[in-house]
Amino acid sequence: MYSKVRVKRGALNYFRRMARKSYPKEIQVYLLGKIVSMDEIHVTDFVYTNKYFKQTTNTVVWTQEEYNKLKLRAELEGKKIVGDAHSHPDWDAVMSPTDYAGAIIESLWLCGICSIHVNRTRFRFWTPTSALPCKIIYS
Ligand SMILES: [Zn+2]
Repeated sequence: MYSKVRVKRGALNYFRRMARKSYPKEIQVYLLGKIVSMDEIHVTDFVYTNKYFKQTTNTVVWTQEEYNKLKLRAELEGKKIVGDAHSHPDWDAVMSPTDYAGAIIESLWLCGICSIHVNRTRFRFWTPTSALPCKIIYS
């Protein structure tokens, strides 16, 4: 399920830049989008927050207030919160046990992870139902 993710290259590159800028702290965005088919998700928006509840080198959590604003925006725009994306400073672009549990608990389909190693980034989308990363299609 959801082996393909359609996303704007510019939005992904911007996220990579923001992730490097905040290094060594993690950053997190929520992804709004639409389910295109059983096989494909279209990510339309990377939603950033100005305020984190917690932000360290290995944890990042939005405030409840910011999350509520996100939910309202999604509702108003007729979009779904399809997942999130966060950075992994000095770690790999794979889901941690915490990421996996979080995706299940929050019912998120996509978990985007951006590793940062000495200013180099790698971005991958994962889905809790597959051992392989999703294929990224740029639009
Ligand atoms: Zn993580």
